[in-house]
Amino acid sequence: VQGFEGQKVAVLGLGRSGLATAAALRAGGAEPLCWDDSPESRARAEEAGFACHDLTRADAFEGVAALITSPGIPHLYPAPNKIIARAMAEGIPVDNDIGLFFRSWATADWDAFDTMPRTICVTGSNGKSTTTALIHHILQETGRPTQMAGNIGRGVLDIEPAEDGEVVVLELSSYQTDLARALTPDIAVFTNLSPDHLDRHAGMGGYFAAKRRLFAEGGPDRAVIGVDEPEGIYLANQLATAREDDRVIRVSSTRKLGDYGWSVFARKGFLSEWRKGRQVASIDLRAVTGLPGAHNHQNACAAYAAVRALGLAPREIEAAFHSFSGLPHRSQTIAEIGGVRWVNDSKATNVDSAAKALDAFDNIRWIAGGLGKEGGVTALGQHLSKVRKAYFIGHSARDFALDLDGLDHEICETMEAAVAACAREAEAGDTVLLAPAAASFDQYPNFEKRGEHFTALVAALGG
Ligand code: ADP
Repeated sequence: VQGFEGQKVAVLGLGRSGLATAAALRAGGAEPLCWDDSPESRARAEEAGFACHDLTRADAFEGVAALITSPGIPHLYPAPNKIIARAMAEGIPVDNDIGLFFRSWATADWDAFDTMPRTICVTGSNGKSTTTALIHHILQETGRPTQMAGNIGRGVLDIEPAEDGEVVVLELSSYQTDLARALTPDIAVFTNLSPDHLDRHAGMGGYFAAKRRLFAEGGPDRAVIGVDEPEGIYLANQLATAREDDRVIRVSSTRKLGDYGWSVFARKGFLSEWRKGRQVASIDLRAVTGLPGAHNHQNACAAYAAVRALGLAPREIEAAFHSFSGLPHRSQTIAEIGGVRWVNDSKATNVDSAAKALDAFDNIRWIAGGLGKEGGVTALGQHLSKVRKAYFIGHSARDFALDLDGLDHEICETMEAAVAACAREAEAGDTVLLAPAAASFDQYPNFEKRGEHFTALVAALGG
């Protein structure tokens, strides 16, 4: 990271991205002052060779050029973070690793390159990881240099210096777009919007505002926007100067959109691309096994649009779709035992993603529950027609049963009990679906551990 040579920069939060930030600052000649509320995290940072400075002290920001915070730390809502609030009150610029990344990117010297490296950022409520991984996969399969980072498991400051013609694909959550002081991707993708993380953004308006920052005026050259919600329509409308403007590629998983300058949509299992009133490509998505269900067709359209904006040809994109195997914990079939299909969608941590999973399968034995989110799950009532029985686990088990009154259900409490009950009761042709519609933190460190536990329990059945 350039721009802080010889200066002190405070780093708050010492997880993966915080440590990568400290290392990048040091590499650029700055002195990182590291802090985390947790003594264990501080110890890990010290072990990695970073000195810790108590940022809770009243004089902590004397002589400090900037404060870089981690996405996991709420800065304003539900309550202002004291350290961030003090820095802001003292006029210290507060940024995050994404802001630092774009700042370095903007000032990098690309003169030696034949083809400018490019950045693609993906945001939205659901489908971000799948869309990001799919874009990365298509670029790899078609032989372009590419790296993937962001919310998908690798810090943006951990990526290698860009190569000639490289495409860096970043998944960005609202926690990351909210605070970044620079956000200037070449192509920005907005998958969809549904309620999530409302406490952190003080409601839906704040949540949408955080995501919209990626599309600010002077932002991306091309915007790929899912227009299946009013917010997406609004965003597309604000960015496009006219209906035939092809700076915005509209994407839908439900509607035919042929009249716009540029659109990509999925209907009845087919992806169609239209430009200025004419269809230019069509792909049969029903034959693509790694992207099951209408929600994945939306992701396919978004990824397709993003790489078309880079100039890839429809046929090479179609070929790459077929070699995509999907991501673990997202509508992932993990076993077929005695005619029963077992599906791990542990990543379905909110109502909308669980609804999509419930729509994608038949004869469902549904394992759900965990740490429930604001608003409850009554909205899932419209997606239960294919559910034979629910097996509720975790903290929210009883609340879910109350919200979904009338659904045949059992309170199982634990994953072990739920899997055992499903193994006893499921018949050939059934799908046992883990789609919790809740966070995992009441019983697991994260959704991955929850999905792995489910997968291990199912594997034990097969043996
Ligand atoms: P994110 O990174 O935005 O959380 P993922 O690709 O990890 O998105 O998927 C999160 C959850 O949402 C999974 O349960 C997945 O099956 C479901 N999902 C994936 N794509 C979509 C979509 N376009 N709309 C709704 N739900 C989706």
